[in-house]
Amino acid sequence: MLLRLRDYFRKPTGRAGQHPHYLEIVVARTGHAAHTFRINLDTLKQGGNVLGAVFLVWFVGTFYVAYSHISNMEAIARADAQAEKIALLENNNEKLSEEKQNMGQHLFSLQQRVEQLAAGVHGLVSRTRAKFPVENQEDKPQGGVAIPLDLNNVGQIVDAEFSLLDERVTTLLPELETTLEREISRPVGMPVKIQADVSSTYGIRSNPFGEGHEFHNGIDFVADSGTPVLATAPGRVVAAGYEGPNGNRVGIDHGFGYRSVYAHLSRLRVKVGDEVQKGQVIGLSGNTGRSSGPHLHYTLYYNGQTVNPERYLKVN
Ligand SMILES: [Zn+2]
Repeated sequence: MLLRLRDYFRKPTGRAGQHPHYLEIVVARTGHAAHTFRINLDTLKQGGNVLGAVFLVWFVGTFYVAYSHISNMEAIARADAQAEKIALLENNNEKLSEEKQNMGQHLFSLQQRVEQLAAGVHGLVSRTRAKFPVENQEDKPQGGVAIPLDLNNVGQIVDAEFSLLDERVTTLLPELETTLEREISRPVGMPVKIQADVSSTYGIRSNPFGEGHEFHNGIDFVADSGTPVLATAPGRVVAAGYEGPNGNRVGIDHGFGYRSVYAHLSRLRVKVGDEVQKGQVIGLSGNTGRSSGPHLHYTLYYNGQTVNPERYLKVN
């Protein structure tokens, strides 16, 4: 049926095809004139083509609009994602900058603490030296390490600064250690427990055995024979025994140039080579050697020279 219908519309080939192509429908009824309806198939076909073209244009247009819309949506989504990324990066950047600032501040306060420590150590050294002027050694250099802080470059300079601080602490620690050791080694306080009277001070005095004057190189404490004699600082016994005018005496090397001698003892409680502690009983006082009565003679040496022990007795 369809094939048959198509045959009606097919344009004939050959000569007939060069003429306009019509479809004629004749409607005839009995008793009436016949009517002929004529349809120009070429026009119909052209109309169909035009319609098809219009439809194609519409379809392409619609598709293009839809496609553009979708593309736009995607572009917007991409832009949104990018904006989010940028915000995240900016946030991170801010955090980093904050961290950098914090780091710089930490570094600065650490540096200040180290400087405080340095000042403390140097102060301790100067204070003790002021107390004992006989120990007049060359002063260690003072003052801080000047570290310029640039927050923009803090990441780069942190390493360098830390190694500087590290170096500073590394040099400070032995200095502090030496200072503390020196503090511990310095013979201070009384060589006897009792509140002993001083019968002879350090310096020039009249000769207790006769005419003229003599230099007394220590301090004499009035003490009954048998009074315990104490080491005034830790150290090593370098002399223990009888020696001419000193009688029975004990000599202790404390290090850092200090040496103490305890003379005219009745008894010795240590021998050469012994390590003694501060306050340890090293012997008993007496009247041996060149002595005019029971007493303890106490001499202090610093770098081989006698010093006045008076200043050292009062410190504890
Ligand atoms: Zn004396």
